[in-house]
Amino acid sequence: MRSVDEYGREFSAAATWEQIRCKQPVVVWSKFIWFAQGVPRYAFIAWLAVKDRLSTGSKMRFWGRVQCCMLCGEPGETRDHLFFAFPYSYTLWLQVIDTLLRPPPSPDWSEIVARIMAGSVGSLQSILLRLAFQVSI
Ligand SMILES: [Zn+2]
Repeated sequence: MRSVDEYGREFSAAATWEQIRCKQPVVVWSKFIWFAQGVPRYAFIAWLAVKDRLSTGSKMRFWGRVQCCMLCGEPGETRDHLFFAFPYSYTLWLQVIDTLLRPPPSPDWSEIVARIMAGSVGSLQSILLRLAFQVSI
């Protein structure tokens, strides 16, 4: 790899990216969201969900808009409500994961994420579980 001041005939996007990016420590959930078998558009939405950056009703309140949960009318539409404290989404979630996560998790977001992250990263079950999680979101 060339230094910052050294120029050559070939351009490398990867080398350029390594030179201009700000390196941060790897977060514990990175393999939970970004993995080789993942689908980028699902991973992106799941990344927003993990960082609690989805524009839910509770976030929109800060923007001056009041929006309840469109599905049940719950005034505090939060990420945790949508995934998976809301009984309908929880029921769907349990059907999607079926036997992939036993015993079935509680509807608590933190517990679900912790249990999925506890699996070995390379196993087929873990890959399927992470995909199911991202697709559900
Ligand atoms: Zn709801």
